[in-house]
Amino acid sequence: MTLSNTLTRQQAATPGTTPPAARAISVTKRYGTADATVAALDDVTVSFGRGRFTAIMGPSGSGKSTLLHMLAGLDRPTSGEVFLGDTEITSLRDKRLTQLRRDRIGFIFQSFNLLPTMTAAENIVLPMRIAGRKPDADWVASIVETVGLGGRLGHRPAQLSGGQQQRVAAARALASRPEIVFADEPTGALDSRSGAELLGFLRTAVDQLGQTVVMVTHDPTAAAYADRVLFLADGRIADEMQAPSAEAVLDYMKNLGA
Ligand code: ADP
Ligand code: MG
Repeated sequence: MTLSNTLTRQQAATPGTTPPAARAISVTKRYGTADATVAALDDVTVSFGRGRFTAIMGPSGSGKSTLLHMLAGLDRPTSGEVFLGDTEITSLRDKRLTQLRRDRIGFIFQSFNLLPTMTAAENIVLPMRIAGRKPDADWVASIVETVGLGGRLGHRPAQLSGGQQQRVAAARALASRPEIVFADEPTGALDSRSGAELLGFLRTAVDQLGQTVVMVTHDPTAAAYADRVLFLADGRIADEMQAPSAEAVLDYMKNLGA
């Protein structure tokens, strides 16, 4: 057991303290073969507090998606540790990792991935039904209310706008009460008004439902919905900004020459 592992396990076990929702400790991810490797992530240590909304920004290829995939257990780091709550996930076997993703993590991707033959309501609870879990009706109702889909639940995806489909996907991500929701460019395929609706939903989920959200975006306006912005460059965390405004994020990016 490494020193950092010992420390974090002790911290996690200290009475009266709850661990952050997720942490990466010295995470490095290399792609490629021995003679030609790319360090998509280079010794990244970062923590995501519960009930907080974090945006991850950075130039194309800076490692944003890779970091999200490591945190979400969709891929394994070359070295380092990733904790979800107090569970170290990089050492889990594939089956346990799949279960953990299903039970404790929510995802929103750029493409909505809704099943076309099912209604919005059916899509929202589908992952839970597949897992054999009974959706908490009150919780699902509060999500549906927050996401503003009340009148659309009986519609199939083709009868919904892109923005409404993405809000169904967001409701689906939250339906199982995940400890953390990861979103990779969730507004990338939306017009600005639909994007604002989705971001408003994520913000409300954090403020009113205590949800933890980590979102990759390249849009300063989207990042301004978050409590904190992490800036990645060349696989490292270059900087972070608290209580970001769109102007401040844009200024920062301009100064980088990005
Ligand atoms: P971002 O999301 O910030 O655009 P990524 O995390 O997708 O960046 O990629 C970071 C770096 O890792 C890039 O140089 C990319 O080409 C490389 N990379 C990402 N995924 C793979 C992969 N599956 N195989 C090889 N290289 C990859
Ligand atoms: Mg990406």
